[in-house]
Amino acid sequence: MRLSGKTAIVTGAGSGFGAGIAQRFVDEGARVLVADINGDAANEVAARIKAIPWVVDVSNNTSVRRMAGKMPNPDIIVNNAGVTHLPQPLEDVSDEDFDQVFRVNMKSVFLMSRHFVPMMKTRGSGAILNIASTAGISPRPNLNWYNASKGWMITATKTMAVELAPFGIRVNALNPVAGETPLLKTFMGEDTPEIRAKFLSTIPLGRFSTPEDMGAAAAFLCSDDASMITGVAMEVDGGRCI
Ligand code: ADP
Repeated sequence: MRLSGKTAIVTGAGSGFGAGIAQRFVDEGARVLVADINGDAANEVAARIKAIPWVVDVSNNTSVRRMAGKMPNPDIIVNNAGVTHLPQPLEDVSDEDFDQVFRVNMKSVFLMSRHFVPMMKTRGSGAILNIASTAGISPRPNLNWYNASKGWMITATKTMAVELAPFGIRVNALNPVAGETPLLKTFMGEDTPEIRAKFLSTIPLGRFSTPEDMGAAAAFLCSDDASMITGVAMEVDGGRCI
């Protein structure tokens, strides 16, 4: 129960890694806001794990501000909501996909900071966790702009860590390899046994990251067990980036 008495907002918690992180936070004693653009998904996960559902578009200033009205002073923020674009060379990416990756993966971190960091600064404590990706350090072909958004997230994490350390706020990132989530198909292009086996052969531990793996790593980094850890971007990737 390392997060007993803590409050946490996990964005994109209606599915995949975010749901796993939210679940582990509840198991560790936290009061958790399951925040997702997909209301049905947020409701389903929140009911299952005994958390609070909330509909938010993390790329929209008004929507994030409204969420701050519901849970104004969280101890923990997990910036997990993310999207990717169709696997294709950069020159073929549509304006819409380019803008959406920018807004959901990058602008969201800025908007969440705008609405929650001032309160954390006043309180003098907080833990922020950005869910980046191994794609941000070991880029895959045809996911250029997605890779770049995750690379930015790692850089932003380190910058935020330095900026916010004087206020007692720690900022870290996790770099999962693809998980068994809806994003997996996008990473692999197609989900056939051959493509799956080839993808798995690049992961020394021989399996995908799971929501439970992410929950365990997130709970550690957001708890006082990690009170001396800030500015790290930790792989949860079965050794893929060695
Ligand atoms: P993964 O868990 O592998 O990161 P998923 O696609 O399973 O990928 O989860 C991403 C989550 O982020 C989904 O539940 C999705 O609804 C949510 N999401 C996507 N865009 C937004 C947004 N603009 N605001 C809030 N949540 C979002």
